[in-house]
Amino acid sequence: MSNNLKYLYAIYGASGFGRGVMPLAREQLVAKNDQNYELVFIDDGACQSIVNGHRVYSFEAFLELDAVDKYIAIAIANSEIREKLVLKLDLVGIKAWSVYADTMIMMDEVNIGEGAVLCNHVHFTSNIQIGKYFHANYFSYVAHDCVIGDYV
Ligand code: UDP
Repeated sequence: MSNNLKYLYAIYGASGFGRGVMPLAREQLVAKNDQNYELVFIDDGACQSIVNGHRVYSFEAFLELDAVDKYIAIAIANSEIREKLVLKLDLVGIKAWSVYADTMIMMDEVNIGEGAVLCNHVHFTSNIQIGKYFHANYFSYVAHDCVIGDYV
């Protein structure tokens, strides 16, 4: 394996929600202090090759890229599309990536499944159970004792 290979992180969806999530993903990776990665968009319908400074690939083109490893966060609001895309990711064994804004607040005993996208100023109080591929948009909150399923 070449030493030049990078980790690839992708935001799936380069439309409204994806472009809102990309800066959070960027901050999350900068906080890890790791230089050896590239952060890109995946969008199957995109006509631009660069969006807000990030390369855009179709899913098939992303699969072709060489990398140490690949991680994808799905930032498409439509939950049926999200569910369909997760099946594709599972088929090729790409790992779900979660994006958590650093202004997000979690109190006690909050369990959230893989692949979540939590935007700025999201607030979870205590004793909350949430399934896979959850999205919480800016300034939303989940109150105590909520039980939430997958793809919400
Ligand atoms: N999209 C995709 N693959 C799919 C379905 C949708 O790449 O199988 C992309 C689509 O091209 C679009 C984005 O997902 O750019 C969804 O954008 P939209 O504005 O509909 O929703 P939002 O950004 O608000 O979730």
